[in-house]
Amino acid sequence: MGSLVAAVASYCDIKQRGGRWQVRIDDLDPPRTAPNACESILQTLNAHGLQSDLPIEYQSQHKGAYSRALKKLAARCFFCTCTRKQLAGFSVYPGTCRTNLAPSENASTRILVGANKISFHDLVLGNQDHDLAKEFGDFTIQRKDGLTSYNLATAVDDASAITHVIRGQDLYTTTSVQLHLMQLLGLTPPVYGHIPVLTYADGKKLSKQNFAPALNITSAVENLGNALIYLGMPLTVNHNWTVQQLLEWAINHWDIAKLPTKLRPFSANA
Ligand SMILES: [Zn+2]
Repeated sequence: MGSLVAAVASYCDIKQRGGRWQVRIDDLDPPRTAPNACESILQTLNAHGLQSDLPIEYQSQHKGAYSRALKKLAARCFFCTCTRKQLAGFSVYPGTCRTNLAPSENASTRILVGANKISFHDLVLGNQDHDLAKEFGDFTIQRKDGLTSYNLATAVDDASAITHVIRGQDLYTTTSVQLHLMQLLGLTPPVYGHIPVLTYADGKKLSKQNFAPALNITSAVENLGNALIYLGMPLTVNHNWTVQQLLEWAINHWDIAKLPTKLRPFSANA
């Protein structure tokens, strides 16, 4: 339900702007991508009427673009061999390996962060200001195992042809890092809107780790109606509606400025 809420919000927002909705599968991290997870996500989206208007993109097929970006950033990078243990206790990277300018085995690649202030306007949260050195320090763009970091991959993909990124506030903290990478790469950033995340009554995010129940795709109308109600939309569920009718209603009534600052907590019996 947490993922459906985020998907429906981004769908309604872009449709209401007259745009096209793009599905992208962020599958760069094979150890974390369960087999069949992708088909199951697409099947669930389809059952709820949420179809990509453009061919579905897969980050695993964009590796060429990511390595070109890495090359472009090379002059600002250094190679870090710190272990997790060495970095424990630091809230930002302490700069230990800043003088390691030659690639070496078992090293991650970090971007040297100076006095970089990042400001942006968020459609939900308003004006945002961040100080990269204070909040993140030199951050990783390529992991020790050779995988492109989530932030670099996402910065490259979101800047390419995406105009609006509407996503959960659980991803908010990555935004200033991604914007910084887009700046360094000379890319045009999208507009961001970070919507509140669906949580349990104790404030914990719904996730597989927290045993959130899987959506039953045979009750798509009901799920979709609940997702809209969680988003604070004035909907009285009409069970005779189809998912298409519900989505049409939602697009017509969508106003990102009217989102509640906090969603009403998830209840399995909603
Ligand atoms: Zn290091």
